[in-house]
Amino acid sequence: MQTQGYAAYTRDTPLKPYVFQRRELRANDVSMEILYCGVCHSDLHTARNDWGWSYYPIVPGHEIVGRVLAVGAAVKRYKVGDHVAVGCMVDSCMECDQCKKGEEQLCREGNTGTYAGRDRITGENTQGGYSKHLVVREEFCLRMPDGLDISKAAPLLCAGITTYSPLRTWGVKAGSRVGVIGLGGLGHMAVKLAVGMGADVTVLSRTADKEADALKLGAARLLVSSDADAMAKAGSSFDLVIDTVPVKHNLDLYTPLLDVDATLVIVGQVGPIEEASTVPLLLGRRRVAGSPIGGIAQTQEMLDFCAEKNILPDCEMIRMDQINEAFERMEKADVRYRFVIDMASLPAA
Ligand code: NAP
Ligand code: ZN
Repeated sequence: MQTQGYAAYTRDTPLKPYVFQRRELRANDVSMEILYCGVCHSDLHTARNDWGWSYYPIVPGHEIVGRVLAVGAAVKRYKVGDHVAVGCMVDSCMECDQCKKGEEQLCREGNTGTYAGRDRITGENTQGGYSKHLVVREEFCLRMPDGLDISKAAPLLCAGITTYSPLRTWGVKAGSRVGVIGLGGLGHMAVKLAVGMGADVTVLSRTADKEADALKLGAARLLVSSDADAMAKAGSSFDLVIDTVPVKHNLDLYTPLLDVDATLVIVGQVGPIEEASTVPLLLGRRRVAGSPIGGIAQTQEMLDFCAEKNILPDCEMIRMDQINEAFERMEKADVRYRFVIDMASLPAA
């Protein structure tokens, strides 16, 4: 099937229109028309090849909501017309212990990325959701719950699950003291989801500019991370801190915030961090961890949780041809709090 999208052609040129093929429908595939696609900071990292594994042209986008156009002969869960969603993975081995546990993101053979991945059968490069159509195997397709506004839900598929998963892994519940570093796409979802679980949430931001927003999102307070006095006063006062900072940074600013046995989980920077001291870790028996997205079953659980609690991202809708401007604004942390592309703005090929 021929489709139309927007691709990065090199690391330092703006995204431009791109016509390409989606694979023929396999028996276990769902083909969908993409209606909305969120703009994740990972899309920008990938377009610029910050992580070294991009190819060109590459079509970013892994926060995808659409409508089923056709299904393969063996597909049981979906029918034409259903509202469905796809996140950061489109396949995995489905055989290893992690896949069997429903942790496909941790597949021993590596999951297949929605973009910057390789199809497990043909070996062709995968291409993401900045496009009109997508073909995906049934098991990696999510159901949009009734009652969730499909024009706003797309960012749940990455920003949502990437923050929901560590909140669940580290057992956040009513009264848990949760810190969120960086109020961007992931950060604002971390706040909403942790508040939905009953946690006492603190936003850690570089300035006080987003204070009113943080409170409106449900946080109890905003702590300015450059205010040394305020940071010292908050020492040892968190059960879990979620770090969404998208660049190399210094953890020594944040590890003293953890209580005994508490964890700082990195979900933001993929790559090196600044040299850090083990002193706060040793003396306070504190932990630093990482977490990648979340499994398919948990992604469905998160969507259902959001539908039940009426949790939706704060979105700024853009046209496909505004993507380069959106990337520039995202780099300046000038987005409140997720761009979503209305795919109707992209003419069919
Ligand atoms: P985003 O919307 O750009 O938000 C990042 C936030 O971090 C900004 O709003 C800003 O908050 C803060 N920040 C930005 N630059 C900073 C700097 N130089 N120093 C300190 N803080 C800074 O990005 P996002 O879409 O949330 O993504 C965040 C990161 O998560 C990206 O690196 C992305 O690749 C990664 N990611 C990882 C996974 C995973 O599976 N673990 C999944 C998705 C995304 P303040 O203005 O409040 O300081
Ligand atoms: Zn993402």
